[in-house]
Amino acid sequence: MQYIDADIPTKVYLSTDVMVDFKHNCTYFGRKCLIVTGKSGAAKSGALSDAIAVLKSESVEYEIFDQIEANPSVETIKLCEQLHFQSKVNYVLAIGGGSVMDAAKAICFALAGINFLVASTESPIPLMVIPTAAGTGSEITQYAILTFNELKTKASIKNLKFPDFAFCNPKYLASLDAKQVVSMYFDISCHAIESSLSVKRGPVQLGHAKTALNLLAQSRSLLNNDLSLANLFRLQLASIEAGVSISKAGTSIPHGMSYPITYNFKVPHGLACATYLADYLQFCPENNVKDLLNAFGYNSASELKAEIHKFSPKIELSEEQKNFFTEQFQQSGKMNAHGPLDIKEVRNMW
Ligand SMILES: [Zn+2]
Repeated sequence: MQYIDADIPTKVYLSTDVMVDFKHNCTYFGRKCLIVTGKSGAAKSGALSDAIAVLKSESVEYEIFDQIEANPSVETIKLCEQLHFQSKVNYVLAIGGGSVMDAAKAICFALAGINFLVASTESPIPLMVIPTAAGTGSEITQYAILTFNELKTKASIKNLKFPDFAFCNPKYLASLDAKQVVSMYFDISCHAIESSLSVKRGPVQLGHAKTALNLLAQSRSLLNNDLSLANLFRLQLASIEAGVSISKAGTSIPHGMSYPITYNFKVPHGLACATYLADYLQFCPENNVKDLLNAFGYNSASELKAEIHKFSPKIELSEEQKNFFTEQFQQSGKMNAHGPLDIKEVRNMW
């Protein structure tokens, strides 16, 4: 099936036979591409060998950069630029999870000779993605989050790039481990809920967010390791729906708080965000919160909090850490997503 949203430039295909759609489109931008992957996920999922078979059958030349790490760094993007800038590829094909897709967005700027760290109006080279994880929504959003080692945290780059095509097959999620799936499940819920409470929320955005939450509610057994194809299909569709929701309204305070936690303690992204989600809800309009929790299948914020903390208990922080992380949080700009809130309230949530 082709997923269509009038405001999103990405053409998204979602099917258990999605390579048929990839075959129809893999020469759309030309016959030379750079495949960008992590060290193992693309191969383990089967997506890499499927994609290469299609590229060969359509006589598309390809190079591979397979060094994207979890929470990819600026240095890795620069390494890819050094190795592949001269190749003059027509497009980038990202095969992997959120880290790979985010890195690929920055690579599209770098390979077009654009400094990806400075806001630019110049056009990057095109991007196709084949997700092997569901959660970040990177397959359908314009955001790229990178690790800035100099700043000791993660942050969004200034340049925005929607993938041009996304080819999603829930079968490629089947090789994920249970912990990764739990993190993705909660990441998607944070995208849906945070965007729905953001100052940029709107009726169309809210429709997408609630659809995502309903899909998650129907797939709650994913939290008990039930990776059935039906559950994975719903997870992938929820990732897309919540991705549309954040592409319109962005994320908010829990995401801003998660970045130093992931950087310093290696807590997976979705779990790091979710740890602070329920506490954050106390600062949001009660009726809106109730409506969202209802769509997600929880009776109260405390019920949700108990569920999340089973998987991701809060990390004890020193006073110095709380101060430093609060400063980093302020630089993330996520406070603007919420509207008026005393920064002391954020500090108290760590
Ligand atoms: Zn996220």
